[in-house]
Amino acid sequence: MEFSFTEEQQQLRRSVREFSEGEIAPHVMEWDEASHFPMEIMPKLAEMGLLGVIFPEQYGGAGLGYIEYPLASGKAIGAWSLTEPEAGSDAGGTRTTAVRVGNHWVLNGAKTFTTNGHYADYCVAMAVTDKSNGSHGISAFVLEKGMKGFRPGKKENKLGMRASDTSEVIFNDCCVPQENLLGAEGEGFTGSLKILDGGRISIAALALGMAQGALEAATKYAKQRKQFGQPISDFQSVQFKLADMATQVEAARLLVYQAAWLADKKDVRFTRESSMAKLFASEIAVQVANECVQIHGGYGFIKDYPAEKYYRDVKLCTIGEGTSEIQKLVIARQLLGKK
Ligand SMILES: Cc1cc2nc3c(=O)[nH]c(=O)nc-3n(C[C@H](O)[C@H](O)[C@H](O)COP(=O)(O)OP(=O)(O)OC[C@H]3O[C@@H](n4cnc5c(N)ncnc54)[C@H](O)[C@@H]3O)c2cc1C
Repeated sequence: MEFSFTEEQQQLRRSVREFSEGEIAPHVMEWDEASHFPMEIMPKLAEMGLLGVIFPEQYGGAGLGYIEYPLASGKAIGAWSLTEPEAGSDAGGTRTTAVRVGNHWVLNGAKTFTTNGHYADYCVAMAVTDKSNGSHGISAFVLEKGMKGFRPGKKENKLGMRASDTSEVIFNDCCVPQENLLGAEGEGFTGSLKILDGGRISIAALALGMAQGALEAATKYAKQRKQFGQPISDFQSVQFKLADMATQVEAARLLVYQAAWLADKKDVRFTRESSMAKLFASEIAVQVANECVQIHGGYGFIKDYPAEKYYRDVKLCTIGEGTSEIQKLVIARQLLGKK
């Protein structure tokens, strides 16, 4: 297993860091306060080829190829809508329905917590097409902005990740052409599980990035802040916190890289590894962000320093794409050979 980066990967990492520090970091607090989704940076991200990165090649094979190109160019925004008010962890309990009428499907229902719900040009939504067939009776549909009967609902006012849009999505007698059925009829739920395998790696990577940021912020502050006539980094209790944080971050990094490495190999299952990476990275990121606030003392509690934002934002990672408890169920099922 080789985790050292190629020259191209190192270059990509450098340009992403440069872009983030130059174009994003100066505005994050302003966007956070205003709950502003920064559409204006999308074309720049697309120009750098970063938006396409999140679309694995196999999604084209699953029928997303025609959406993939506009999304990857940054000219259109996508959303993926599974969660409902009564169907969260139990996504098989989806209640939104799709009824076939001639060569159309008519969708009725509502989704909650859809990322990009207000901005999406395309939204992939799950709906029940055959109630008698359980999880094999749920299908995936591509909804296009402006379709009659399809609209975003309430925008959520969130604890963290406030610059990202999270909204309800509502279907009211929404008429969807047959060609917008994504993949095979009844395979939307099983398709979602496969998508979640990959999605969990991205949440794990998000958690890892924030944990790394919190570690760097805490280390910098500990070296600058003086109490009792010396930098607080001279106190062993602060050193031990930093040592624990750094060790947790490195352990999470290995799990995330292992899952990503497996995902890049074709025809290898990585359900267990992606759940482990997501579970571990998100849980340690919460702990690392907590210690980052602690090392900042009172300054960790105010918005002049980045600690409080890491603390608020990182919590999502233990919830989105399946809670930590659901990751444990997935891992246990894999260990026990259960379906
Ligand atoms: C900011 C944000 C963005 C999101 N973006 C999207 C998106 O783009 N698309 C989308 O479809 N969804 C999205 N979600 C939804 C997210 O995936 C769900 O919130 C998550 O899966 C949990 O579902 P729930 O909120 O209904 O919690 P519940 O399922 O009600 O869980 C509540 C608690 O019960 C526990 N629990 C539930 N079932 C079990 C069980 N069997 N065993 C043990 N414990 C259990 C959970 O772990 C949790 O602690 C987003 C959520 C947020 C907050």
